[in-house]
Amino acid sequence: MENILVSACLVGKNVKYNGLNNLNTNVLKLKEKYNFILICPEVEGGLSTPRTPAEVLNSKVINKDGKDVTKEYNLGARIALEKAIKYNCRIAILKEKSPSCGTRRYDGTFSHTLIDEPGICASLLIKNGIKVYGESELENLLK
Ligand code: SF4
Repeated sequence: MENILVSACLVGKNVKYNGLNNLNTNVLKLKEKYNFILICPEVEGGLSTPRTPAEVLNSKVINKDGKDVTKEYNLGARIALEKAIKYNCRIAILKEKSPSCGTRRYDGTFSHTLIDEPGICASLLIKNGIKVYGESELENLLK
């Protein structure tokens, strides 16, 4: 079976900033066709769970307390890319709206304003030729 990267929170791992998950049954259905390589760039980059939510602003990642967590986000993204290379993943299924995993993300003002820019990890994967899908874009993969 082909290996694909998958955001760990989408399969029920409690790695989300608030200690919960984003379990998605459509993502689980893909297990019949693909072998999942789980990633959580924020945790693998060194952040704890639960953690203060953060947003990307001007290529920096700042959490709601004003702390700069860019280093951790960049490290987590690099680890995800290394896994993609190691396991030969050409596809990633990543959680939408996340500052790490989102194909789109919030604008950095903590006002729930979405913009057409990917999160830190999604951006690095896309730049390296990996096709990134959000959890609402799985129709073709589920066929
Ligand atoms: Fe899920 Fe990605 Fe956030 Fe981890 S960094 S909790 S995998 S959206």
